Amino acid sequence: MSLKPLSTLTPVLMVMFFVGCDQAPTKGVDRIFLNGGVYLADTEHSWAEAVGIDNGEIVFVGGSADAQSLIGSNTEVTDLAGKMLMPGFHDGHAHVSYGGRMGLGCFITSRSSLEETRQQLNDCATANNYAPDEWVTGGGWELYAFGDQGPTSGMLDEVFPGNPVVLYDAFGHNAWVSSRALELAGITSKTPDPPQGVIVRDPETGEPTGTLRDAAMSMVDHAIEQVSDGKRYEGLLRGLEEVNRYGITAFIEPGASERKARLYKTAEENGALTTRVILSLSPIDELPDSVGPELFDLLAKRDQFRGSYINPDSVKIYIDGVIETQTSTMIEAYSDGTNAAPFYEQGQLNLLYEQLDHMGLQIHTHAIGDGAIRIALDAYEHALFENGPNENGHQIVHLQLIDPADQPRFGELNVAANFQCLWCYPDPYIYLAEDFVGKERVQQFYPVKSLQDAGALLVGGSDWDVTSLNPLEAIETAVRRQDPYIDSGPVLGENEEVDLVTALDMYTRNAAKVMRLETKTGTIAVGKRADLVVLDRNLFSIPATEISEAQVLLTLMDGKEVYRAGGVD
Ligand SMILES: [Zn+2]
Repeated sequence: MSLKPLSTLTPVLMVMFFVGCDQAPTKGVDRIFLNGGVYLADTEHSWAEAVGIDNGEIVFVGGSADAQSLIGSNTEVTDLAGKMLMPGFHDGHAHVSYGGRMGLGCFITSRSSLEETRQQLNDCATANNYAPDEWVTGGGWELYAFGDQGPTSGMLDEVFPGNPVVLYDAFGHNAWVSSRALELAGITSKTPDPPQGVIVRDPETGEPTGTLRDAAMSMVDHAIEQVSDGKRYEGLLRGLEEVNRYGITAFIEPGASERKARLYKTAEENGALTTRVILSLSPIDELPDSVGPELFDLLAKRDQFRGSYINPDSVKIYIDGVIETQTSTMIEAYSDGTNAAPFYEQGQLNLLYEQLDHMGLQIHTHAIGDGAIRIALDAYEHALFENGPNENGHQIVHLQLIDPADQPRFGELNVAANFQCLWCYPDPYIYLAEDFVGKERVQQFYPVKSLQDAGALLVGGSDWDVTSLNPLEAIETAVRRQDPYIDSGPVLGENEEVDLVTALDMYTRNAAKVMRLETKTGTIAVGKRADLVVLDRNLFSIPATEISEAQVLLTLMDGKEVYRAGGVD
């Protein structure tokens, strides 16, 4: 890390404001932050003390003394008293609409035991007083809280007697459903598994037990359809509030159907969109499955969703499922000798990527197994060969296991590596995966530093509400590769830690680049929009174990305050 001395930062725009201003007191700029640790997140990793904002634009970056002359009668002055100011966080993968909606339904907090799960469901039933036959939706439960077969309908039938219930697991790859939900969906012992999906069944009777995996989740999709647009909109607003609370000012919404895209547009029209958003469009929304030609019908409409804060030039494509349900595509089979087929044939995917790339779209690819990642890279390579280079911001997200031979290809093909760094420590999912792929492969999971060394552009994302939205938790984990909630513990992956500067780049400048926002946001510089966050401490002067404890005090998007915790005058 190189810290550029303050004296090298010239207050270039100062002069502008005072030429020809005889009358005092001058109006001054809209807002000034003074006496801070201002981290610019530029390529030199420079620092300053003060930032001036006018009409939502950054007009001054430099020392506090020089900034004084920008203060006028209308200027709001904030003395940071040494606190850290940096660009707003950019989250490369966050299901904000869904996450917000889950907060309105029945939500099970992470790491809940079976008894805690039952208690939370009971509380939710009491709080919501569901009408008979009203759909109950929600999620957050975790695979490892239940046996290999997943949860069964029993508990839901007891807590919500007669109600159709669908609760998605934190991964979004399993649905836990009540007997009434199975009945309404017409799922019986005779119903065949859909392609790419599993109806978990009692091995003796063949009766569905209450867990639906991957594409089988779509069989209860009409449950989600039942959620009114009003409720969805309320959920989106809740999600946006959470986003701002964690200092996030831009994110990619992966898997946006027309219905979801319209919600965002409505929010912008109502002046309620308090972040920038890249809508990664998909006609099947967040469902892990392949997409058909209807994708192009949705894409043809995308200008209807475009806005000053909404960019809909992105597409979400799933290549595989997840390792923990053995639905990811591996180069080498799972320990039990099985493997999962990818959602597309290679030739079909090549053609699809060529078309999407040619349309100027960003392809946001979900790929987890090393086999799926290779297929995706092959498709990007095909598109590059056919169409030539561009800056569409292509990326692969999740990247659990990457064959070393494929690692240099990210840089070569200009495909960003979008990691969820909060997963980069030995959490219970890692131990669960160990059963399926063995210790050696598990230690190779999420090779963030190897990808950096291989020349990839690294991007960070939360995958909320799969895991916490707080970028500081993911940043700490990227730096330590240990449980961020405790001070020491086993490490995942030898030498895969990255330094703090790299981890912050993943959430600022690099993410802004793949979001095609780099001329507007991602660093603090004169001429950029004022998307900023104030933290209660300087991340560079605390031990790494403390990073996730830092608090966001203030979030600004486009110069407007969208979150304030207090502690800032
Ligand atoms: Zn996701």
